[in-house]
Amino acid sequence: MQNMSSTIVKDCLVIGGGSSGYGAALAAQRGGADVLLADRHGYLGGMGTAAGLSCYLNHHYKKLNLSGAIYREFVQVQNARGMHYYDPASQGDFFEPETCKRTMEQLFIDAGGQCLFHVLLTAVDRVDGDWLVTFFHKGGMTNVRCRYLIDTSGDGDACALAGAKMTHGRRSDGKTQPMSMVVQLGGFDPVAWNDAGLPLVQGKYAVAGDQFTDQIAQAREAGQWSIPRNEIAMTWAMPGDPTRVTINGTRINGLSACNVLETTLAEIEGRRQASELADFFARYVPGFSKSYLLQTGPQIGVRESRRIIGRDMLRDEDVRLGSVPESSVALCCYPIDVHNPEGSDTQFELVEGGGSAYGIAWECLLPVNIENLAAAGRCISATHEAAGSFRVMPTCMTLGEAAGTAVALAHRDKVELAEVTGQDIRLQMDRALLEMGEPELTPLYESSASLNTLR
Ligand SMILES: Cc1cc2nc3c(=O)[nH]c(=O)nc-3n(C[C@H](O)[C@H](O)[C@H](O)COP(=O)(O)OP(=O)(O)OC[C@H]3O[C@@H](n4cnc5c(N)ncnc54)[C@H](O)[C@@H]3O)c2cc1C
Repeated sequence: MQNMSSTIVKDCLVIGGGSSGYGAALAAQRGGADVLLADRHGYLGGMGTAAGLSCYLNHHYKKLNLSGAIYREFVQVQNARGMHYYDPASQGDFFEPETCKRTMEQLFIDAGGQCLFHVLLTAVDRVDGDWLVTFFHKGGMTNVRCRYLIDTSGDGDACALAGAKMTHGRRSDGKTQPMSMVVQLGGFDPVAWNDAGLPLVQGKYAVAGDQFTDQIAQAREAGQWSIPRNEIAMTWAMPGDPTRVTINGTRINGLSACNVLETTLAEIEGRRQASELADFFARYVPGFSKSYLLQTGPQIGVRESRRIIGRDMLRDEDVRLGSVPESSVALCCYPIDVHNPEGSDTQFELVEGGGSAYGIAWECLLPVNIENLAAAGRCISATHEAAGSFRVMPTCMTLGEAAGTAVALAHRDKVELAEVTGQDIRLQMDRALLEMGEPELTPLYESSASLNTLR
């Protein structure tokens, strides 16, 4: 095998091409930085494509859209391709994962960005104030030298290798929310589903949340259900073909996504549960009598693992009280949704009146004591419960957009990343929305005073 070692020089490296990495890379590139976006897979999308989770939840508060320009553009492009629908009841955007891969890489490459696929992060070092990041791949090693580094790996891998202080799971014992294997079934009959009194979105798409508890109890009684959960969290039909349905209904407790032996066990148990789930749907759920297991997610779905200890931390109380700090760079209104790390239940805190919107401070994205490094997506600084809320993909993409916008501003002004303020970032993100002709969010981003009028 030829051993290849090379160095790529960029302004910014984004590690992890999930929803947050895509948002970060595109915002930084469009803002004038030269960006490399690296991922261990051969495509973008993270959990949204790699785990088959094409259901992006909850970014509307009192009819206001809380997402940033990059998420809205993503929805528009997918919609124009006929590969998206929206369900107002669940506040979910549903996409075809295959087209998400293409949309993301196309928009990023069209903006002048460069992707680096099939690389595994190996080392993160400092050289004369720059980052020197090493990736291992089939041909050997590749180094990337850059001024600014954004960690959107979900697990905080780059921050951990850079020596940032990290935390894992919940405070009491480090345990995390369970992993889940996402399952896609073919051969579904929407008419039979509808005939059984179950609704269809736009007359053709089956969508259901937290359902089928009675059927699960029956199946458990009959010895046909061993999965540690009492309900199916989410069921949704695919935009390109309503006879294909994706299900978030498995649960693997007590294993860490940062431990390769445990992740291996989770993948294997996930596939076992996927077969059980497919049998359950065929036996108990209307419209599925002729369904079959089409595919499991290419990788197990990871809800929670490592997070940074940041200059600020998003706490459960901030979420419950709807706090909007002065330096907020993203808003979220998704409830605290924590799948029990040990049991079969789920903590789902829907505040009376439809929940509350809260702000996420820029400092939650900045690890303590390390310059020119930001985290975005599910590895930002937060408590276990707060992470159970902001982890939804529209919010992750907007957090990524905030980090990428900060890099663009720091690069333009030749300053350290932490010198950019939350207000600067928000103003710039607001401009991006105005340029898109989306005036709806302006009052949200103008000032934190007007953010507070939301409540
Ligand atoms: C079962 C399940 C159900 C969920 N349901 C929903 C839902 O219905 N709606 C919703 O909006 N959200 C849902 N979520 C949450 C959501 O999917 C995640 O919180 C979100 O995808 C996090 O985005 P991210 O960009 O931070 O990380 P990820 O999406 O995990 O992306 C991380 C990326 O980094 C790459 N990467 C990781 N490590 C390395 C490395 N060392 N080197 C190179 N690349 C690396 C990965 O390949 C991946 O592409 C669910 C999650 C799970 C697991």
